[in-house]
Amino acid sequence: MQSEDKRLNPSAALRQIPSVGALLSRPALDEAARRLGRRSVLAAARAVTGTLRERLVRGEDPARSIESVESEVIAAAASASEYSLQPVINATGVILHTNLGRAPLSREAVRHAVEIAAGYSNLEFNLTAGERGQRDAHFQRLFAELPGCGPALVVNNNAAAVFLALNTLAEGAEVIVSRGELVEIGGAFRIPDICAKSGAVLREAGTTNRTRAADYEAAITERTCALLRVHPSNFRMEGFTERPGLDELAALAHRHGLILIEDLGSGCLADLAPFGLCDEPVVSESLRAGVDVVTFSGDKLLGGPQAGLILGRRELLQKIRKNPLYRAFRAGKLTIAVLEATLALYLREDYGAIPAQRMIRASKEELASRARRLADAISRLGGFSIRLKGGCSVAGGGSSPGQNIPTQLIVVTHANRSAERLALGLRQNRPPVLARIEDDELLLDLRTVLDGEQESEIVRAFEKMAAPGK
Ligand SMILES: *Cc1c(COP(=O)(O)O)cnc(C)c1O
Repeated sequence: MQSEDKRLNPSAALRQIPSVGALLSRPALDEAARRLGRRSVLAAARAVTGTLRERLVRGEDPARSIESVESEVIAAAASASEYSLQPVINATGVILHTNLGRAPLSREAVRHAVEIAAGYSNLEFNLTAGERGQRDAHFQRLFAELPGCGPALVVNNNAAAVFLALNTLAEGAEVIVSRGELVEIGGAFRIPDICAKSGAVLREAGTTNRTRAADYEAAITERTCALLRVHPSNFRMEGFTERPGLDELAALAHRHGLILIEDLGSGCLADLAPFGLCDEPVVSESLRAGVDVVTFSGDKLLGGPQAGLILGRRELLQKIRKNPLYRAFRAGKLTIAVLEATLALYLREDYGAIPAQRMIRASKEELASRARRLADAISRLGGFSIRLKGGCSVAGGGSSPGQNIPTQLIVVTHANRSAERLALGLRQNRPPVLARIEDDELLLDLRTVLDGEQESEIVRAFEKMAAPGK
């Protein structure tokens, strides 16, 4: 019951609120201050007592024991001290989810990066000669050994790689791009804008749906220096479409003394067609077809760090490396450590050790047995109705759409809670669990859930939601 006298005479009630000083001198808050920092405990104490005061003045809140105020302050300080960037469990089935940080790294890559991060390294030091070395050496030796790859440069991301290639090789000259490839990739990477900023003059060839080699040829002038081929990424055309093969385009470029640049987007090092990703271009195939410079991301299908990889003819890469902007875009030591470890796994053909590759390759049967186990565990909690159904996982991260990987989905419904409500509950778990919603049903796809530990965490998240009062 709200007490009338407090509303009439709030000052009496206000005196019951412990002062910030009194709170801070209590042993539990002193301990919290040592753990979380004095500043954050002080800020939490001010905020909690401030709110309490306001509510008392409005006559809303019954008086509280100092112990309950104390634990509220500790909880507020602890939550304010949480990192903003935190791990989440991805149960969406979108393997390279850009909003969720794209490719998770292999254990080997993480171990290598931690070791390099924690101390000094030979990043730019040649240990044999005892003199200054190049940071490229650490990944170039691996690209040199990977079949069909050869010389390589690494920058911050693929957007920087495309920009740098155009700026170095085509500034002040014309670059021909098919009208069907003038795409925008999420996050405002637009081919015409990147071209303009690089100083290259874009010349369009062909039509939106059909561009032939003859269209490129007709667009060539004495100012043309390159043809640019772009992976249409998250955009797909169907029906009456046509574009020349890479070998045909390369032959045309070389006949006219031009270079062929290709923005591969994801760029696979291993063919993924057997696993349902038929439209994803393989880096070595582009180079073999005669492309002079290819660029692709490190954190898409490669399954490595955020990076832009530039492969191709040695003399062109040397020019790119000499561009002053290369220094502005160069990759850091952590990126290089992660890339080196990831490439080493490719060299050993240990695809199972690279999470993105393992996820793509996981069979529907394997996922079905994991799904059955998890479904049973959630069913046992009571309150949720669970069934399994076939569905699709997707590569994501700008890989071609419409290339779906068959999977087994867990469908969770609840008698009096909407799918949105369940999804919110899962997001509020620590670590947050992200699921998919379709037709007002909550769907979990275990293809992107990393391991048994994450599966148990999902069960715990449902358990908390099943608890009375939730
Ligand atoms: C993803 C993508 C990019 C951008 O790559 P980032 O590594 O995110 O900078 C550029 N081009 C294509 C075709 C892409 O798919």
